[in-house]
Amino acid sequence: MLELERIRERLNYLGLTRMAEILDARLDEAAKKEVTYLDFLALLVDEEAAARQERTLAARTRLAHLPFRKTLAEFDFSFQPSIDERQIKELATLRFIQEKANLIFLGPPGVGKTHLAIALGIEALSQGVSVYFINTTDMINDLCRAYKGNYLERRMRIYTQPRVVICDEMGYLPLDQLGATLFFQFVSRRYEKGSIILTSNKSFGDWGGVFGDPILATAILDRLLHHSTVINIRGDSYRLKEKRRAGIISASPREQTPKPN
Ligand code: ADP
Ligand code: MG
Repeated sequence: MLELERIRERLNYLGLTRMAEILDARLDEAAKKEVTYLDFLALLVDEEAAARQERTLAARTRLAHLPFRKTLAEFDFSFQPSIDERQIKELATLRFIQEKANLIFLGPPGVGKTHLAIALGIEALSQGVSVYFINTTDMINDLCRAYKGNYLERRMRIYTQPRVVICDEMGYLPLDQLGATLFFQFVSRRYEKGSIILTSNKSFGDWGGVFGDPILATAILDRLLHHSTVINIRGDSYRLKEKRRAGIISASPREQTPKPN
């Protein structure tokens, strides 16, 4: 048994911690089943590799700062007919990320913009792509602080390095001149270098107001939209649907319309 102890220690020294953990049990099983040397080695190596992939994914997921975990499988497409399910499935192939193109979800609150952005983010993470989720106002405030404190470059890197940045709730609050300029810098620096997934309840026509400057808004939109997919979601809030079902608020006019049968 001393030899086993020694091998376990060597495995740990080599960073093969999963192998070290399972060695005992697998040896017992192999002795009973008369496994070949090659199969035995494959078993250990495969488990080590799987454990490592899992750890990397978990670390990458932590770094992504997703505010909640929602997948495409959890999205009810029948509730939101204005969304083309095929188009979302196509986006889930992540080709747009390879092409460094952007993806923009527009629509009123509760229609699933953030859910879909996160679901695609999770898809990307599982394919080994780095993702960073941030509320757009928080990002802009952070960049403004960094600019004033003379460390803009350091903070800008946080938002330009990941292959995908999810900017949630763009346009919720109007921006001042510095904020608008820094957002423009952010978009310019990612342009053709990495994807932005953006959600907003403002239509593009309102962006001039958000940025307080129609020329800057045009410059931002120009870069953002050059290689992009825009998904306009129209329809009812899913949150309200759940409340309605629970009888907290009354049914929407749409639901009250008698259905032909
Ligand atoms: P938005 O970002 O458009 O305001 P969210 O994506 O945050 O809306 O959605 C609000 C809540 O409703 C979330 O919990 C989300 O998972 C859920 N939701 C929205 N649309 C759907 C849908 N079609 N199927 C399942 N859940 C949905
Ligand atoms: Mg949202």
